[in-house]
Amino acid sequence: MKKSAGFGLKSLLAAAAALPLLAPAADAQNVKYIMLFLGDGMQLETEIAASRYLTGRDYELSWHKLPYQSNVAHWDVTTYEGFAGKGSYDPKAILNVYGYDVTKGGRLPYPLQRGGFLDSYFLQMPKPYATDSASAATAWATGYKTDDGNLAWLPSDPANGSLKTIAEILRETKDFAIGVTSTVPFSHATPAAHVSHNVSRNNYHAIADEILFKTKPDVVIGGGHPGWARNRANTNGQYISDATYNLFKSGAMFPQYIFAERQAGKDGAQSLMAAAEAAARQGRRLFGLYGGPGGHQESPEPQHAPGAPEVKRATTENPLMKDQVLAALKVLSQDRDGFFVMFEQGDIDWAAHGNDYARMIGTTWDMHIAVQAAIDYVNQEGDDMTWDNTLLLVTSDHGNSYLRINRPKAPGMGVLPKQVEGVCPDNLSAKCLNYPDGEVSYRTTHHTNELVRLYGIGKGAESFSKWEGVWYPCTQIIDNTQLFHLMLEAAGVQVESPLKFTASREACN
Ligand SMILES: [Zn+2]
Repeated sequence: MKKSAGFGLKSLLAAAAALPLLAPAADAQNVKYIMLFLGDGMQLETEIAASRYLTGRDYELSWHKLPYQSNVAHWDVTTYEGFAGKGSYDPKAILNVYGYDVTKGGRLPYPLQRGGFLDSYFLQMPKPYATDSASAATAWATGYKTDDGNLAWLPSDPANGSLKTIAEILRETKDFAIGVTSTVPFSHATPAAHVSHNVSRNNYHAIADEILFKTKPDVVIGGGHPGWARNRANTNGQYISDATYNLFKSGAMFPQYIFAERQAGKDGAQSLMAAAEAAARQGRRLFGLYGGPGGHQESPEPQHAPGAPEVKRATTENPLMKDQVLAALKVLSQDRDGFFVMFEQGDIDWAAHGNDYARMIGTTWDMHIAVQAAIDYVNQEGDDMTWDNTLLLVTSDHGNSYLRINRPKAPGMGVLPKQVEGVCPDNLSAKCLNYPDGEVSYRTTHHTNELVRLYGIGKGAESFSKWEGVWYPCTQIIDNTQLFHLMLEAAGVQVESPLKFTASREACN
């Protein structure tokens, strides 16, 4: 990190060692700013549902206009061994059909392809074979496939199985600033896989401590505030220990970090931006700790208002995802070398698990305006960021819930289907939301192995097509581990893939 203002002890030492403080020769071909937007559990049908609510049309979200579009396969080692048998995963001899079988799952995600695939391929009972968020994020953060639950750690949990993440590599090789933000706890699987290493995503206190005391990203913003999310016995925070929280609260972590948190009666967007401005001015890191019951921020609430869609903030005490994005960019853009940041809307997944269509619309809207805010940020003039040095990607980590919109009855602009409490489609003794008028349907409460979409714009995106179909011939499918290489390559860093893949060409017939 080389900053216009000092950046704590580290940059003072760096400056002392290399006076005068000159930027390295600009590396004009490579991307300097990487923004990865992640809709957890978001599949194309989710995007279409939100787009229809907001506009009455199918492909009108902010990322639907981006010039690069393809599809991502995201199976993990657990999925692979579900299909191929326990112990069958060998990273040097991967058979692609055991990860994602194009002949059974389709070349394109539903509804781009509406026939020629088997529902049963995605809906094993009691739980479909599919990645979880930890192994999925590990794939694009490290280039390795791993088991369910692992964060930047090799499958089978060997000692010393820690894997270097894309954030760590870009910090080390390019001096990039790094950041993660999420609407769910900052120590939850998706953000954590970029900035911590653990054999279990559930070791929240250790993960939070590794993030804040060891990795020390330049920006960490998320839920998990211990005032709202406690352990069962109410003796400690669930996602961050009370001891760690108290260090920030008491000011002991200043000047390393500027700290902002949820406070009763205070506008979270304002408190977060004020902290970001202070961090940017003083050349410090930012930790924004928000969240509500269960650790995640209360999801925005769409109103049933035919022809006049309206989404309300559930509380003003938490920032929206857009506010997290703008606060993070305020801090990260101070770094003249560049940055890597992952922005997650993590509640789309929670909505899908509960088959909650309204919440899914509210959370996807949150991401829609957050991506638009980032696009506008790059488009504004007077700074160093342009589409010639910035790469913005939007994707998802896995499908969830097997949502299907009933096309003849598809809800229009501002319309929410009637939702009532009932039983779950895959478990008649559990409660889920149901849709008695049949406008939409769900088939599971779990993740699915369905393809998800990838959207991109900016430097490097023009060469992404060379990755399509390499592992899944005759398709426009990229593997989630290839996202690691595609982002690093855009930044001018080459890392060889540890995986050897044998591609079946059956789908070409
Ligand atoms: Zn999930």
